[in-house]
Amino acid sequence: MPPDSPRSDLLGLEPDLLQQELERFFAARGKPPFRARQVVRWIFEGDAQGVDDMTDLPLEERKALAAAYELREPEVDTVARSSDGTAKHLWRLHDGELVESVLIPAGDRLTLCISSQAGCAMGCTFCATGWGGFRRHLTAGEIVSQFRASRRWAAEEGYGPITNLVYMGMGEPLANREAVMSSLTILNQGYRFGARRITVSTVGVVPGIRELARRPEQFRLALSLHAPDEALRRELIPLEKRWPLPEVLDALREFDAAGGKRITFEYTMIDGVNDDPSLAPRLATMARDLRAFVNLIPFNPIPYRDWGASPPDRVAHFARVLEERGVDVAVREPRGRDIDAACGQLRAHALVQVEGRRGAPGTT
Ligand code: SAH
Ligand code: SF4
Repeated sequence: MPPDSPRSDLLGLEPDLLQQELERFFAARGKPPFRARQVVRWIFEGDAQGVDDMTDLPLEERKALAAAYELREPEVDTVARSSDGTAKHLWRLHDGELVESVLIPAGDRLTLCISSQAGCAMGCTFCATGWGGFRRHLTAGEIVSQFRASRRWAAEEGYGPITNLVYMGMGEPLANREAVMSSLTILNQGYRFGARRITVSTVGVVPGIRELARRPEQFRLALSLHAPDEALRRELIPLEKRWPLPEVLDALREFDAAGGKRITFEYTMIDGVNDDPSLAPRLATMARDLRAFVNLIPFNPIPYRDWGASPPDRVAHFARVLEERGVDVAVREPRGRDIDAACGQLRAHALVQVEGRRGAPGTT
């Protein structure tokens, strides 16, 4: 498919706009509005992979539709399956960019982790995506199509339905606000994926948090906190300089005040970096203030730094200090270690191998 295909991608339109666009298209051809409804149904309910699949549409209409529009699906570059069932897709987009998504089965849940950008401009020092630099934003259609293609793959492979969606793959979702906000609407209104089962993870893009707070749906929010102390956080997350923690916490208060949507703090435990028990009381105060849930995540080593994961007893101690202070905390199991199923890792490896890309954050 040519990268500059003039056909527009129907997968990136919010349901209302999609309906209007198609009604206009069929009206111009002297056809009734129910043709538009048929196409909309094929996309959201019928999982059509292309116009050819829309078999109750007359051949002539299918031809005309295919000349003007496309359903832009990503190609599979690689699928890697972990011994624990975690499955990671590396998708090749129409212009050759690579992004990844990960399916994580756990009990009767199946969580899909999707990417919002090719690469990331935030340059967090512990993150493989950050070291790879920014390539480009994804469109709403490219975000949604990871869900469509993963759902199809999961069904074929006997994984069952996807129950939860997290924006925790490559990229900073709230730095690509327009497309991400649109993709949330499409997933929720079009594909009927419950807002409470969708989590947007951010490193602290304040205007994006405020925008999400104002949305009427109850999408969930995770803040990648990683340090309760501003100086330490600045070392891990360069964005801390732009939006310091007090401002981020203010925005989270607005999100919390909007009601019903519990915030999660993500805290990746890096050995000797941010796992000192003396940090836990301050984290506990923040979490209690916002009634936030704390996820302690084992650090997944990356090729660019000789940091390691905190030992389990240190993580357990840290968790205990939080619990003693009335905080709800979970210690996450590492998932998909054997396939590098952490943020940005498969693509980072592909880049190192294919392009020899080993620059500093943001230098690509
Ligand atoms: N940009 C967003 C979402 C994508 S990153 C964000 O930062 O929140 C998803 C999660 O993976 C974040 O919590 C991030 O801090 C975490 N992460 C990144 N690199 C990691 C690593 N090497 N080990 C463990 N977690 C990591
Ligand atoms: Fe980007 Fe998130 Fe990685 Fe930071 S942790 S570089 S924001 S993807």
